[in-house]
Amino acid sequence: MPLTPILTAHWDEADSHTLEGYRRHGGYDMVPVTFGAHPDEIIALVKESGLRGRGGAGFPTGMKWGFVPQNDGKPHYLVINADESEPGACKDIPLMMANPHSLVEGCIHASYAIRANYAFIYIRGEVPHVIRRVTAAVREAYAAGFLGKDILGSGFDLDIVVHSGAGAYICGEETALLDSLEGRRGQPRLKPPFPAVAGLYAAPTVINNAETIANIPTIVRNGAEWFKQFGTEKSPGFKLFAVSGHVQRPGIYEAPLGTTMRELLEYAGGMREGHELKFWIPGGSSVPMLLPEHLDTPLTYEDMAGLGTMLGTGTPMVFDETTSVVRAISRWIHFYKHESCGKCTPCREGTFWLDQMLVRFENGTAAEVDIDTVDDICKQISGRSFCALGDAAATPYAPALKYFREEFLAGTHTPADQLFDPVAATVF
Ligand code: NAD
Ligand code: SF4
Repeated sequence: MPLTPILTAHWDEADSHTLEGYRRHGGYDMVPVTFGAHPDEIIALVKESGLRGRGGAGFPTGMKWGFVPQNDGKPHYLVINADESEPGACKDIPLMMANPHSLVEGCIHASYAIRANYAFIYIRGEVPHVIRRVTAAVREAYAAGFLGKDILGSGFDLDIVVHSGAGAYICGEETALLDSLEGRRGQPRLKPPFPAVAGLYAAPTVINNAETIANIPTIVRNGAEWFKQFGTEKSPGFKLFAVSGHVQRPGIYEAPLGTTMRELLEYAGGMREGHELKFWIPGGSSVPMLLPEHLDTPLTYEDMAGLGTMLGTGTPMVFDETTSVVRAISRWIHFYKHESCGKCTPCREGTFWLDQMLVRFENGTAAEVDIDTVDDICKQISGRSFCALGDAAATPYAPALKYFREEFLAGTHTPADQLFDPVAATVF
């Protein structure tokens, strides 16, 4: 499938991040059109387009907006989850650097639709240059009259606050993000109630990923039918596929959903010279890996689910034959262990043990029985953790074992009777 530069259309222009650069290509032109429509019409348009959340879960955006209660007398909030931190995910940050106004304009349409007068853009704290860029865009939008009171004489008010996170991966989990935004330590909340009903300050809150919201101006401008001509029936539209790893040209390739990994690999110049593909991951380290034999499966939510994995963030990581699968899995598990917030036992303790066990495989001091022990720990974490982080930590191991068992076996040089027994060694 050919590339479809829509969100990325003008990223190569030196002033693409400025108001002037954005306005030159019709940016903000559709704001008065939205204000001339009823908010429910904008929600209906987004529902009709079939746009699905680009943060990883793929939840239908219009449906989420439709959950916000109307005439409830409460303030409503829009929160942009721009805390992109998943290993392998790198698409929201380039988007915000190259075209922050598409996000700001998207916030205006979305806030109007859900009747919110405050929007928060939550950006991970490790990227101060991105925070500066988005803040500058918000300031430009205020100065041009696209934000603030009675925008363009419409009677609609909107303030946008750019909020810097403090470096915790868990704050990308939407309810932990809300706690963080409220000034508390970021830890997930029980769902339901979902944020659309009780979110920020217990008020109805729509939380959308940055790429999701940057899509909205294109849909308002061109219509739902235009949007649906890209992609598939269940996965309409185009996507910022961020390809990383052992390819010739890592980068962002904007293409319709349904593009295959083989096509993305071609765009990325193929594998490194003299190397071949060993395995790949469709979207962030939290989704199961795939093999070269899966290269021709369309990258859609439904097709990836059919392979037992997920499209996730749509940011494929590519690994060649020089990669140690054990080392890769160990590195990811170490990340999840480090980022576990500690709220629930399966994840807090389980990721700690997984981390220890994977190091044994790496340095060759594991025993064969450890292969099953790790599998058992993963099963104890999966589905028993309070939020998706626990599941994510447990996810990569089983497919890695299925496809590359011999690599785990190669790390088992300790006879079972010489294994360190953590229970026996514990002094109560
Ligand atoms: P989820 O499926 O629980 O929810 C998706 C969205 O739909 C949420 O906003 C949720 O509030 C909403 N929702 C779901 N059911 C609802 C209902 N009945 N009523 C109202 N709203 C409802 O998924 P999640 O835990 O939010 O996200 C998990 C995904 O995040 C993973 O698949 C992973 O790919 C991705 N992820 C992304 C990053 C990143 O850096 N972008 C990091 C970690 C994980
Ligand atoms: Fe915290 Fe992990 Fe439990 Fe999520 S699964 S609440 S990150 S301890």
